[in-house]
Amino acid sequence: MSYFYPKPLRYQSLYGISQLTLTEHYKIYLGYVERTNEIRSLLLSADRAKANATYSPYRELKLEETYSLNGIKLHELYFENLTPMGEGEPEQELLLYLGRSFGSWEKWREDFTALGMSARGWAIMALDLDEKIRNFLQDAHNLGEITRSLPLLVLDVYEHAYFLDYMTDRKGYIEAFFRNIHWGVVNRRFRQALAACNACYPFSTP
Ligand code: FE
Repeated sequence: MSYFYPKPLRYQSLYGISQLTLTEHYKIYLGYVERTNEIRSLLLSADRAKANATYSPYRELKLEETYSLNGIKLHELYFENLTPMGEGEPEQELLLYLGRSFGSWEKWREDFTALGMSARGWAIMALDLDEKIRNFLQDAHNLGEITRSLPLLVLDVYEHAYFLDYMTDRKGYIEAFFRNIHWGVVNRRFRQALAACNACYPFSTP
């Protein structure tokens, strides 16, 4: 069986996000790694013969596996798409996709900010492999994602991500998030998603 190993955090602080917040946030991520490994270990011996949709240990383990595993993946995406003071800018084709999907870069940013203000867990910009770029929110790690969508930019809006620094000023945290985006990482994810996308319109060839 394969176990997960935590990825190190590449920075100690970010613009507007303190070392204390990041240290505590990273501990939460480590918890998801530990729980996922524990769940996978328990699944080895879970009784498949007693599986049912009302209650069974197998069902509960499979359910929490999605919560815990997505807790790992979403945090890794979030930490990776940030760097102190940000880096780079969105590549041209990504801007074209955002324009096609939202009307303009400004409208995408306005929508993503509203998304961050509305979500109870995660705000995600993703390439929907069946059409275009979508912004969608998840109220829990395993609640709200769109099937066949690949995340490009992930924002954690659980209170643990900002409350020590911003208290109830979530908007201030989202503004700091924008300042820290590593666009090189987002561009790379976009390229990888495009390669997997059959239905996406090839904007680069008029
Ligand atoms: Fe978090």
